[in-house]
Amino acid sequence: AKALLEASQPHEDVVDGDEDSTENATVKAVFVSLVRNEDLVEIVETVRNLEDRFNGKFHYPYVFLNNEPFSDIFKTAIENVVSSDVQFGLIPKEHWSFPEWIDEDKAAEVRATADYIYGDSESYRHMCRFESGFFWRHELMEEYEYYWRVEPSTKLHCDVNYDVFQWMKDNNKSYGFTVSIREFESTIKTLWKTTIEFTEKYPQFVAEDNMMDYISNDHGKTYNLCHFWSNFEVASLDFWRSEAYRKYFDYLDRAGGFFYERWGDAPVHSIAAALFLPSDQVHYFPEIGYFHNPYHNCPLDQHLWQENKCSCEPAHDFSFQGYSCTNEYYDFKKIPKPEGWKKFRS
Ligand code: GDP
Ligand code: MN
Repeated sequence: AKALLEASQPHEDVVDGDEDSTENATVKAVFVSLVRNEDLVEIVETVRNLEDRFNGKFHYPYVFLNNEPFSDIFKTAIENVVSSDVQFGLIPKEHWSFPEWIDEDKAAEVRATADYIYGDSESYRHMCRFESGFFWRHELMEEYEYYWRVEPSTKLHCDVNYDVFQWMKDNNKSYGFTVSIREFESTIKTLWKTTIEFTEKYPQFVAEDNMMDYISNDHGKTYNLCHFWSNFEVASLDFWRSEAYRKYFDYLDRAGGFFYERWGDAPVHSIAAALFLPSDQVHYFPEIGYFHNPYHNCPLDQHLWQENKCSCEPAHDFSFQGYSCTNEYYDFKKIPKPEGWKKFRS
């Protein structure tokens, strides 16, 4: 309980939990991973590392979701390495297929000619639409308030010694990220136009103290492509369940860009968080060392790096490199930058 109390003190914007906490989970939170049977080896490695760095201390449950039934060997391999309850869910067909208003021939034509990454993939588009509009509606997610998204082949570089979910709740945070980056413009040609149509139709959903100036350099006229990399997210499920987000998702889904373009769940989540949440509910975790190919979040703050036994090279940190948007995030939030950040700007 002591550690929980300490973790809940506002440590400015950085949490430096350096004590083991006892099991005392009061927050309904879950790890959620959308994954295929063939990702078994990669996801088991990732879960072992997550248990080692965080969950061996806290024992939060897991939900694994798949558009096909999980194999027995997949389930056994996961059960063998987790320290908590785990559930395996099948995604209902309606959440992983073309809605009736989509012209499938037109969608196929787009896939045949698109020249961006995953441009030719139908399944990638179902995945992005599912992560935008449906993972939080899965029946296995209903009982939870917060989730932490886990992807195969990702890694935590540092110990996380405080209860991240409890901290989110105590500090009234709704969306937390480790990496931010710029989107490929060609995948979201009409996403911003569609978003602006939506906010003009429903101005009541736009938060007063929003983050428009983080995602736009001209106060909303154009999107600067900055988004939170959604392969890692610790966030509130109630935000996605809100009327604002449901209506936003429905509006985007009707517009067809998940299939006629290749709208990613990352820009969709990020634009929603930036516009519909007050900015103080969005949080960056510098101390959660994280890797998803090819980028690292590695604490530049030597104290954090040391205290949390990080295995990453601060020199490889992505946060202040030019293609990242974390520098812009610090500027927007007026947070002091860690020593050494300037080395990454040439
Ligand atoms: P990237 O990070 O954008 O390169 O995309 P990934 O290939 O990592 O996919 C994002 C997430 O969706 C990962 O958790 C994948 O395991 C998962 N995923 C992608 N495609 C499928 C699919 O067809 N079926 C299932 N069940 N999961 C998928
Ligand atoms: Mn990935």
